[in-house]
Amino acid sequence: MSFRALVTHRADDGSVASAVETLDDVRLPEGNVTVDIEWAGLNYKDGLCLTGQGGLVRTYPHICGIDFTGTVRESSDARYAPGDAVVLTGWRVGENHWGGYAERARVNGDWLVPLPKGLSARDSMIVGTAGLTAMLAIDRLESEGLNVAGGHVLVTGASGGVGSIAVSILSRLGYAVTALSGRPENAGALSALGASSILGREDFLNEPDKPLEPARWAGVVDCVGGNVLGKALKQVKYGGSVAALGNTAGIGLNTNVLPFLLRGINLLGIDSVMQPYDRRIAAWARLTGLFDIAAYAEMVEEIGLDALPEAASRILRGAIKGRVLVRPG
Ligand code: NDP
Repeated sequence: MSFRALVTHRADDGSVASAVETLDDVRLPEGNVTVDIEWAGLNYKDGLCLTGQGGLVRTYPHICGIDFTGTVRESSDARYAPGDAVVLTGWRVGENHWGGYAERARVNGDWLVPLPKGLSARDSMIVGTAGLTAMLAIDRLESEGLNVAGGHVLVTGASGGVGSIAVSILSRLGYAVTALSGRPENAGALSALGASSILGREDFLNEPDKPLEPARWAGVVDCVGGNVLGKALKQVKYGGSVAALGNTAGIGLNTNVLPFLLRGINLLGIDSVMQPYDRRIAAWARLTGLFDIAAYAEMVEEIGLDALPEAASRILRGAIKGRVLVRPG
């Protein structure tokens, strides 16, 4: 048996390039569940892996793709049988284990979850790592006291995968959502997802910088880090929380301790990759009931394996809107 995959190679000069190839099944890595992949996603981290950045991929040739959904083909894991629909996100698949940009993958059954009831395979990849992370961030903010009576929640990097799904879910939960975006052309789409106001990234960053700024946000879902996160922290209301989950604006954090000392704010780190099974199941179940996938249709783009290198460069430039779905077949 053989399968098609986008295989990423590193040349002797260190450059990284990908091409669609046909591989024999014997090339699949170790694992106890083999999955026929229906859909994979494109995430910011996939852009890094496909272009050899961030030191995420160490061994070549490699198959990228940090999330996918499909049907079990073979399994020696008692929890999964041929024909079962499954979803994979995280666990460093697509980084140090061959991932979703292929018609087939072989993985450890511990890394899978059953396709959540109520979602099609395609729906589950619209959600993907992005939606799971948005849900985990909102769960965490609420566990620290965020509630709809507290006022506006700021979502940064709002046009991207995580940000746009966070806008949609927060709005469904009844929150007033301010969407921060560097792309004014996406304002209409973000309003349609439920954002009650749109804040331009440059306007936000150009406001006079002070150690403590007027308190505006009950909570923040921060997808970008860097100077945006540094500024947002100074504007969080007394006792409010910021969920830090991304770094598209950089890994630096230039801020000061006054918002922590004088307003008692919380900075919460969010990781979706190593989340234990029970928390994943709970987050998928809550998402399934909340996220309006039909209303998100305008935010979804579909591509094949051969279009991934171009799409990778677009996501790294911050030029993707919403979610990109990859059809490997
Ligand atoms: P996307 O590229 O889809 O979205 C990122 C958004 O960030 C862009 O759409 C853009 O939004 C904004 N942005 C891009 N460049 C800059 C910049 N230079 N300065 C400020 N904002 C910028 O990525 P994802 O949604 O897939 O991921 C978002 C982040 O979250 C990434 O850093 C990713 O690695 C991280 N992540 C972390 C996870 C975790 O478990 N902690 C899981 C998933 C993702 P706009 O144009 O609207 O401003």
